[in-house]
Amino acid sequence: MLPPSGRRPRTAPVDSGVMGHIYTVHFSARIKTTAPPRHWPQHYTGWTAGLEARLAAHAAGAGSVLFRLAIEQGITWEVVDVRPGDRNRERAMKQSSATWRCPVCKAARMAADQGDDSEWQETSTQRELSTSAV
Ligand SMILES: [Zn+2]
Repeated sequence: MLPPSGRRPRTAPVDSGVMGHIYTVHFSARIKTTAPPRHWPQHYTGWTAGLEARLAAHAAGAGSVLFRLAIEQGITWEVVDVRPGDRNRERAMKQSSATWRCPVCKAARMAADQGDDSEWQETSTQRELSTSAV
């Protein structure tokens, strides 16, 4: 049954229970969008039944507009978290911030915690870290 728009859904419906992988991507910098800068994303969480094919699509700038923008802006990315699950799990994971789940950002936070008590500069710290990590 197609939705009223007539477009075939590109991924499994949320409640289908189809198992796949939920993956989280960390971008080397915030991706500039039409949103205010504080809302520019640095992570992407997605669900797929075919992880290799999806990551290949992302590498070609497909699958989400974020990857096309990242390529245009010279931003690199790495997959920082992959776990099996269905779309319900993906939806649950999206309720919490990827920044707190992301090991790259976690390492940046820990490094900042070991310094003085100056305010953590999210963007610059993450940029330095991911340059060395990529
Ligand atoms: Zn991150």
